[in-house]
Amino acid sequence: MTPGSMTAQNCLFCRIVDRQVPSHLIYESDLAVGFTDIKPQAPVHALFVPKRHVHDIQETGPADEASLLELIRAAKKAAKDLGVAESGYRLVINCREDGGQTVDHLHMHLLGGRRMTWPPG
Ligand code: 5GP
Ligand code: ZN
Repeated sequence: MTPGSMTAQNCLFCRIVDRQVPSHLIYESDLAVGFTDIKPQAPVHALFVPKRHVHDIQETGPADEASLLELIRAAKKAAKDLGVAESGYRLVINCREDGGQTVDHLHMHLLGGRRMTWPPG
C-alpha cells in the first residue's frame, strides 16, 4: 500500500476517532483526539491523532498545520493531566518504514513516567 492510499474506512485510527473501535480517550477537540496506547512502552503512553485522515507527517500540507499544532497542545495538556509535565516526557512521530511507523494514520506518541534513553533503538 502506498502512502495516502488507505481510505479512512479501513484505517484503525479513523475508526477510533469515529468510535467504531473502542479506546480509552483522554483528549478530544474539533481537530484531534488523544487515547492511551494499547501496548504501553512507558508508565504514561498516549497517542494523539488528527481527526482528518493523513498517512504520515511527510504527507502533511498547509491544511494540516492547525491540527499539527493541536497535537502538541493536546500532548502538553495530557502531560499535565497525567502527572509527567514536571518530570518530563518524550514526544515521538514515527514516519514510514525506517521511522518504525506501524499504523498508517499520522500519530504522535507521548511517553513519560520513566527515564528515556538516547539514542532510540
Ligand atoms: P507507530 O509504531 O506506528 O509509531 O505506533 C503505533 C502505536 O499504535 C503502537 O504504539 C501501538 O501499540 C498502538 N496501537 C496499535 N493498535 C492499537 C489499537 O487498536 N488501540 C490503541 N489504543 N493503540 C494501538
Ligand atoms: Zn485514518
